[in-house]
Amino acid sequence: MIIAIDGPAASGKGTIARALAHHYGLPYLDTGLLYRAVAASLLDKKGDPTREEDAFLACDFTDSLLSESRLRSEKIGKIASQLSAYPKVRQALVKRQRDFAAQKGGAILDGRDIATVIIPEADAKLFITASPEIRAKRRYDELVKEDPLLRYEDILDDIKARDERDSSRSISPLKQAQDADLLDSSLLGIDKAIERAVTLVEKQIETVQS
Ligand code: C5P
Repeated sequence: MIIAIDGPAASGKGTIARALAHHYGLPYLDTGLLYRAVAASLLDKKGDPTREEDAFLACDFTDSLLSESRLRSEKIGKIASQLSAYPKVRQALVKRQRDFAAQKGGAILDGRDIATVIIPEADAKLFITASPEIRAKRRYDELVKEDPLLRYEDILDDIKARDERDSSRSISPLKQAQDADLLDSSLLGIDKAIERAVTLVEKQIETVQS
């Protein structure tokens, strides 16, 4: 079984995807990490984020980079969002994602264009969202422990700017696939959101099998 999950930053899609991976015993790929690895690799090479060619050259990162904690920083997230608009970068990462999805027994992937571009043939598709204010609050609570000077307003501005960039780019913009179910996690606790995600996946699988 292949499950595709998309949604904006801090929508809860990563937590839900991990819970689904555990529930169904599937390997999980957070594709945002790939774009973040390109950003870190570009910085390591002293590349210029405004140059598509520099970003493309940074796509040859090694897998060990994916487990580095620095990938989670806001700075890297912001650069990743800029680089992800380059067609050459997106193209360079397609095979890696499709190979992961094609492994025996299936897989679960989350990102921005998984159901629309990477694996439109997935057995189940979810689009997870939440209001920008709630997403900013979640991100703030997560990051303030490490950076007490962080401001909620700055995080909210960043989330809104990232949404705008991800949704308006010409190649693989963030959008709900026509046959994906929408799950708004704004007013749901995480346990309820996971329960709802399992119910939606079960329904989609039943429909495919009947
Ligand atoms: O999900 P995460 O915040 O880690 O992703 C970092 C950035 O990578 C996003 O803002 C988005 O621009 C980009 N991305 C993408 N397509 C994906 C996953 C992430 O464009 N499938």
